[in-house]
Amino acid sequence: MLRKERLFTPGPTPLLPAAQLALASAGMHHRTAEFRALYRGVLAGLQTFIGTRNDVLMLAASGTGAMEAAVANLTSPGERVLVLTAGKFGERWRDLARAYGCEVDVVSVPYGETFSLDAVRAQLSPQTRAVFVQATESSTGARHDVRAIADILRGSDSLLIVDAITGLGTTTFDVDAWNIGVIIGGSQKALMAPPGVAYLAVSERAWQRMEQGRSPRYYFDLRRERQAAAKGESAYTPAIAVIAALGAALDYLRTVGDGDLAAGRDLLIANAEAAAALTAIAAPSGLDSSNIVRAFRERFGAHVANGQGEMKGKLFRIAHIGYYDYLDTIGVIAALEQVLAGLGVEVQLGTGVRAAQDVFARSAAVGATAP
Ligand SMILES: *Cc1c(COP(=O)(O)O)cnc(C)c1O
Repeated sequence: MLRKERLFTPGPTPLLPAAQLALASAGMHHRTAEFRALYRGVLAGLQTFIGTRNDVLMLAASGTGAMEAAVANLTSPGERVLVLTAGKFGERWRDLARAYGCEVDVVSVPYGETFSLDAVRAQLSPQTRAVFVQATESSTGARHDVRAIADILRGSDSLLIVDAITGLGTTTFDVDAWNIGVIIGGSQKALMAPPGVAYLAVSERAWQRMEQGRSPRYYFDLRRERQAAAKGESAYTPAIAVIAALGAALDYLRTVGDGDLAAGRDLLIANAEAAAALTAIAAPSGLDSSNIVRAFRERFGAHVANGQGEMKGKLFRIAHIGYYDYLDTIGVIAALEQVLAGLGVEVQLGTGVRAAQDVFARSAAVGATAP
């Protein structure tokens, strides 16, 4: 039997065909007018995509590079910061802040859960300089209430720094109204491009804070990147091909939105609902989820994700981020039925597919998006 390779992982996500074409044909040099036009266009598009008037920057890095840039530029050794963690990516904020010598307070809840706002309030102190959180904790699929957390910080001195690497394009944010200091995304999630570019929006308050920062930074010095961006360039050699792919993805969203990029983004967000970005499923008891992940790959060429951190072996994750549609949903549910049956789980083939078909038939959104 033939098998197509398909990504159902929460990054990288399936590539938009137009983004692949752009990648393959991006042979330009970066100190040219042609590149500057591309760069400025993508920065402006990202600003609309994020929904902010703040400065947007791109870095040649995976998403974690922008997370490190936020910590390096906005904190100083010995400063108190608060990390909200509910999984592997929250732990990454904690470890990064510690690596830069911060005094790290932590609100930690079990994998799969989200924070009580009272616990967040209780851990905030007048000395808290920054609060770090994920929008969506991709290791479990839990979406955190960024707006409510932003409300708690209103009027305080703390900067809110949001890892929305999975959140952007799957969740609606009002970055400026919620006073988000820095919000971070990555090319390989909802934007349907390969990994290699991290992007972030930086508020005026964050720029001011940066002037007082005492942590070392060089490649990730955002002030230097801002100066370059003002000239339509990056400080160092950019990920030219990935930026071209991002340009194609933003054009696609503009087309889907009938010429309005923000409308296209909203359709993309609606497409990832109702489970926000990914569906995390507990393996049937007694069955290691690694076997499910392997069977998906070996039998169907379908890449789903295992649990991460302490959830490894316990759950598997199916993403619906970015370039992903109804037939993908039906296909992956059908494959899941076969995979479970093959592993000795009692399943009635067609039960899951039928349930999904029923939901689709009732959905008002049928045929709402095209090109
Ligand atoms: C994908 C992802 C990351 C990024 O990780 P990289 O591998 O560095 O790109 C960080 N945080 C979240 C919430 C993610 O989903």
